[in-house]
Amino acid sequence: MPAVNRLHDKGNKGRIVASDQTFVVVGGGHAGGRAAEAMRMAGFDGAITVIGQEPYVPYERPPLSKELLATDDGPEGCFVNTAEYYSDNKIDLRLDCTARAIDTGSRHVTLEGGGTVSFDKLLLATGGRVRPLEVPGADLEGVHYLRGIDDSQAIRQELTANRSIVVIGGGFIGLEVASSARSRGCRVTVIELQDVLLGRVTDPEIGRMYAELHRGHGVEVLTGLSVERLEGDGRVSQVVCAGGKTVNADAVIVGIGIIPNVELAAAAGIATDNGITVDQYGETSAPGIYAAGDAANHPNPILGHRLRLESWQNAQNQAIAVARNMCGEQEPFAEVPWFWSDQYDVNLQIAGAPSSWDRLVTRGAPASGKFMVFYMAGDRVVAANAFNLGRDMRFAKKLIESARAVSDADLMNEDMKLRDLTA
Ligand code: FAD
Repeated sequence: MPAVNRLHDKGNKGRIVASDQTFVVVGGGHAGGRAAEAMRMAGFDGAITVIGQEPYVPYERPPLSKELLATDDGPEGCFVNTAEYYSDNKIDLRLDCTARAIDTGSRHVTLEGGGTVSFDKLLLATGGRVRPLEVPGADLEGVHYLRGIDDSQAIRQELTANRSIVVIGGGFIGLEVASSARSRGCRVTVIELQDVLLGRVTDPEIGRMYAELHRGHGVEVLTGLSVERLEGDGRVSQVVCAGGKTVNADAVIVGIGIIPNVELAAAAGIATDNGITVDQYGETSAPGIYAAGDAANHPNPILGHRLRLESWQNAQNQAIAVARNMCGEQEPFAEVPWFWSDQYDVNLQIAGAPSSWDRLVTRGAPASGKFMVFYMAGDRVVAANAFNLGRDMRFAKKLIESARAVSDADLMNEDMKLRDLTA
């Protein structure tokens, strides 16, 4: 996992820590796990309870579409911390446990099946759930979604050589599944509704490159095609698209995005708008109640607008920043968004989350497999994609953060070090 852990960047300096208080975290995923850890590292020695719906200790999800599908590894490598860590650090980790309601007045969380947990401060790290495919046949056996460990293990069972796997959705998760399925010798078809892959997060040019990458690895990539229904006798056997095109399917993996889990917050009267609305410290409209990770919509002072991110870095660093603020730090969370994806032998790293750009500038030869693409708005870099060049990403982030003017010619000139352009 990448080493972008703010816990180790900052040491434990003079925070206000009230040891008679109780902090509750709802959501035992990546953000929830890191937040609980960060509270302890900040010196908070009051009670911490983490309420997690899943049966696993908090874990990181990126390997679920990569290593866990492509290898026979177990999920242990994904865990944020071992089960012992929680008991050793007196963190009351309640797994298989769902929070059903929050009472912001009497300050307690009601659990499914009864019981309540009181809090002084509460962190909502409820993440997101998969967006369902709403077509006839979507409930047939052999149709899968990918969000958790159990999903990943069920999909892996399907990925045996020569079986026909249809991936619906050409975003990162769908494409990583396609890559993993090819590594196991499956026949793979990707069906994407938009005209290009990765349309939500990259320039169409990058989407076209990814279509070629997958085609080059033997994947049938169908874009601009909508799925009308799934057919089969109990179990899926084919996908029927608009216009009558049919694709054989031994299994279907649906990756068409997530829906942020905001209902718990909204029902408690907490403001939501494409996520749980938080301020720069991670605090929601309800005092003492915070949110972080995929569920949180936060203001980003570097980008100058609000956004909700679905990324490892954000789940980790925002959770840590917000946990420290809960412990009294009061430091705004401000980072250039960063995301990565591994498909075949290509490591793509993305910095920035621009709403618009006017052109792309390429540094290095795409044919070499190692190059960068800068997204430009006037003379500023607003985002960057690095292909097998992760080491240069920190300079791209600096260019985005500083909003420094830079010429296309300098960016393209590989004799000029990127670091020198940031100085
Ligand atoms: P989650 O990890 O979703 O955790 C939320 C938890 O809250 C869940 O366990 C949920 O069950 C629980 N919960 C929800 N409601 C309740 C409730 N009422 N009571 C109790 N518990 C509740 N990002 C990258 O940057 N790079 C990658 O390569 C990458 N790959 C990915 C691959 C996959 C397959 C997936 C699914 C995601 C990937 N991501 C990647 C995104 C990254 O993993 C997420 O952004 C991150 O997991 C978000 O963490 P979170 O804690 O906010 O949410």
